[in-house]
Amino acid sequence: MCNKFVRAIFPGSFDPITNGHMDVIRRSVKLFDELIIAVGRSPIKNQLFTPEERVEMIAELITDLPGVSVESFEGLTVEYAAQRKADVILRGLRSLTDVQYEFQLAMTNRAVAGIETVFIMTSEQYGFTSSTLIREIASLGGDLSNLIPPNVHKRLEGRFNRLSSRKA
Ligand code: ADP
Repeated sequence: MCNKFVRAIFPGSFDPITNGHMDVIRRSVKLFDELIIAVGRSPIKNQLFTPEERVEMIAELITDLPGVSVESFEGLTVEYAAQRKADVILRGLRSLTDVQYEFQLAMTNRAVAGIETVFIMTSEQYGFTSSTLIREIASLGGDLSNLIPPNVHKRLEGRFNRLSSRKA
């Protein structure tokens, strides 16, 4: 038996974090000694929440999870992983559609930095949940209470109420 300490990073946009992401995080706690949720500060993506807001929402959700922390990062995931001395990258899988993209990403990261990616499959009930859809449904006033944590729901409501009152 090997008693190696394993540190994982879970990189993503998390704009916003969903119950699907949380499901993957909760499952992974049993596999790793330390997990850093890494919110990407992508200059390209069209973002609803600032990296600081995304980190804040996640921090509120992980207070009961031992060994789990959250921070934001800029630049290449593999460079960030090296800087944080991570042993593996964690990614979540929803469906076969995810596999193709994630496979390519994992192979590239392994080829350029020699880092392995570990995948965790989400529960069936979150297989269709994506941050993009959440943002769209929220902007149209749909009910999202089963798909996102209550603190995220509150922030989304605040965000879209403010936007609609500005338009009126
Ligand atoms: P990215 O822009 O890096 O894809 P996301 O925040 O969309 O960032 O996703 C981060 C990771 O979480 C990815 O591996 C993605 O496949 C996974 N993920 C997204 N939604 C879910 C979900 N509902 N269930 C499980 N994993 C998910």
